[in-house]
Amino acid sequence: MKKTIIALLCLAVSLPIYATDTVTVYSARKEHLIKPLFDAYTEKTGVQIRYITDKAGPLLARLKAEGTNTPADILMTVDAGNLWQAAESGVLSQVESEVLNKNVPAHLRDPDNQWFGLSIRARTIVYSTDRVNPEELTTYEDLADPKWKGRLCLRTSKKVYNQSLVAMMITRHGEEKTRQIIEGWVANLATQPFSNDTKTMQAIAAGQCDAGIVNTYYFGRLQQKDPDVKLALFWPNQDSTGVHVNISGAGITKNAKNRDAAIKLLEWLSSEEAQQKFAALNMEYPVNPAVAPDAVVSAWGNFKGDDLNVAQAGKLQTQAIKLMDRAGYR
Ligand code: FE
Repeated sequence: MKKTIIALLCLAVSLPIYATDTVTVYSARKEHLIKPLFDAYTEKTGVQIRYITDKAGPLLARLKAEGTNTPADILMTVDAGNLWQAAESGVLSQVESEVLNKNVPAHLRDPDNQWFGLSIRARTIVYSTDRVNPEELTTYEDLADPKWKGRLCLRTSKKVYNQSLVAMMITRHGEEKTRQIIEGWVANLATQPFSNDTKTMQAIAAGQCDAGIVNTYYFGRLQQKDPDVKLALFWPNQDSTGVHVNISGAGITKNAKNRDAAIKLLEWLSSEEAQQKFAALNMEYPVNPAVAPDAVVSAWGNFKGDDLNVAQAGKLQTQAIKLMDRAGYR
């Protein structure tokens, strides 16, 4: 009898420990990019991580619908535009963390501390090494020049990456000048916008057009499949605003049940220990300036990135969508 009571007591004592040491993540970042990190964290700390992966829109809708009943402690997604939308719809919470503030540069996290960048993605110019002399290239804005007529390929304006790029341009140039630039791009298109960055690059490689705008990790994937692909990256705006950078990132949900453990996980993901792998798994750039990019990524060369706060991508997203529509960018 005594033994049973002791056993029950042990069980009662041990249960809450397991219950609090589980963090639940809703992730728009794909499983193969997060699981190796979560496994490493579990091995190091004993903290279990449950996760589901889906597109950003459905995850946000689910968080809203679940309200206080949500099991999610962390929302992880890509593009500051999506993170800003999540904060705006009230599903995230403010986090005061010295570790996150130290590891994540100020322009790559929410000024209101509701989300934090975990990797940097650069959206830059890609060109045909057969048909373009890189000296022809200077800025995103210059791709509107008539010298690029019939030579430009772009991804659809429906993609949040382009909405964020245009939102940043509106911040820099104002509506009127930005609309003129986008109209110039549209006038220079060789063909209808593509559904993704890879198709955009394949069209350039195939000779349908000479230059385009893509996220560098898609270039990395193409280069891995076809090491001889006759494309190269160009870093534009080095004398002005810098390359357009965006983030993948995460925030703690408003109704997190395991808030402290979730904050610790985010802090670890931003640490030197985790950052190399977090970025390298998707050929992105670490957000923590103390960590160097992977060798494959470093080989593309150094660049100056835009240091405007990426929250602007969210704030001006609706304006950017309307502007692209008016400029005829489909
Ligand atoms: Fe992507």
